[in-house]
Amino acid sequence: MHSAKEQGRPRLVMIGNGMAGVRTLQELLRIAPGRYDITVFGAEPHPHYNRILLSPVLAGEQTLDDIVLSGWDWYEKNGITLHSGRKVVSVDRRRRVVRADDGTEATYDRLLLCTGSRPVILPIPGNDLSGVIGYRDIADTECMIDAARTHQRAVVIGGGLLGLEAANGLMRRGMQVTVVHRGAWLMERQLDRAAATLLRTELEQRGIAFRMQAQTEALLGTDSARVCAARMANGDEIAADLVVMAAGIRPEVELAHAMRLHVEHGVVVNDTLQTVTDARIYAVGECAQHRGVAYGLVAPLYEQAQVAANHLAEYGIGRYAGSVTSTKLKVTGIELFSAGDFMGGGDAEEIVLNDPLDGVYKKLVIRGDKLVGACLYGDTADGTWYFQLLREGRSVAGLRDSLMFGRDTSPHAEAAT
Ligand SMILES: Cc1cc2nc3c(=O)[nH]c(=O)nc-3n(C[C@H](O)[C@H](O)[C@H](O)COP(=O)(O)OP(=O)(O)OC[C@H]3O[C@@H](n4cnc5c(N)ncnc54)[C@H](O)[C@@H]3O)c2cc1C
Repeated sequence: MHSAKEQGRPRLVMIGNGMAGVRTLQELLRIAPGRYDITVFGAEPHPHYNRILLSPVLAGEQTLDDIVLSGWDWYEKNGITLHSGRKVVSVDRRRRVVRADDGTEATYDRLLLCTGSRPVILPIPGNDLSGVIGYRDIADTECMIDAARTHQRAVVIGGGLLGLEAANGLMRRGMQVTVVHRGAWLMERQLDRAAATLLRTELEQRGIAFRMQAQTEALLGTDSARVCAARMANGDEIAADLVVMAAGIRPEVELAHAMRLHVEHGVVVNDTLQTVTDARIYAVGECAQHRGVAYGLVAPLYEQAQVAANHLAEYGIGRYAGSVTSTKLKVTGIELFSAGDFMGGGDAEEIVLNDPLDGVYKKLVIRGDKLVGACLYGDTADGTWYFQLLREGRSVAGLRDSLMFGRDTSPHAEAAT
């Protein structure tokens, strides 16, 4: 336990107390404990929690306490000064001073930007009514749980991963939920039409209604300025006391802009996660853009965190080369996995197993002799193995005929796989 800050250590200030940032600190503390005098600013008034698990919290399957990853004592034990519930509003790069909304200041030698993303709020009339929210943090989740106690009808805009998890959670809490989706099928960035059709059927059977290829044109309010309906572009109105916008995320780069860092979609970083503008400043997580990509899932951010921590510790020459991602849906009882180029097409070969009666669909996409994509619904037991094959880019020529049946774990098969 560090009772007082040791003198003379370089100062590391982190902005954003979220998943990527704290993971970087954990790595750093593991490989180079005591190297930095660490200060953290977090806009949310909470210690580090697992944002992914907000969906099971909303669905009533876990509590907020269950999802805390590093409690208040973790910061204290590691000698970290935490300014929680304080948003950083300016950074003076010349003086190397960070300033929060309450006037708290901290000076840095190294700065770690990990401000995450913000939900896209559609620019439509009524988007500022009470009862209209995005889905990103504990406050949004609590707002939805409260709404479900007192109100009946919810509209979720967006039939992607987040939208469907929100819809499921609200439905589990007793609301009548309609998902409004612009695309022709659900989760089109992760599923092909066949898998998405199975998913939609399952969710409809559970009581969620869908408006496909529909666009919300305006939100209508009551006299007390609470939302009461969503109007579609075709004129239909859907009654709603709560509207959740899950129509995408944008890297949170407001501060980076103000700091005059090079920002495109996200804050542009190099392979050591240093911003290309200022080598003292690192960016990790959803706010960062690496080789043109700003990720929106945790696994790549953890890979970034490791490289950034190594660099901050001046350990070796680890480089981040980008990540291949995979997706699962956290709706209890629905097994779904997808990774890579699951749509196929062109010169790709597809192996498909379709068993609608049992609700199982599997598609593997092969290009040359490599597995390049997988989309699984109903039985995802082999998802991890397919993902491993895909990431490693190994030849599957010898496995071609048995690939669909999953990994052969018998002893004689080990050599072959
Ligand atoms: C409901 C939900 C379910 C999800 N499910 C999955 C899943 O199943 N799988 C998966 O891989 N990913 C999932 N994600 C995405 C995953 O949570 C994110 O990829 C991850 O949290 C990003 O980490 P981050 O550190 O970049 O951002 P965050 O975890 O969002 O942390 C950023 C933090 O910075 C704070 N901040 C921003 N600006 C400032 C400032 N100026 N000053 C101080 N603090 C600031 C924010 O308040 C926030 O606390 C889900 C996300 C949500 C919302």
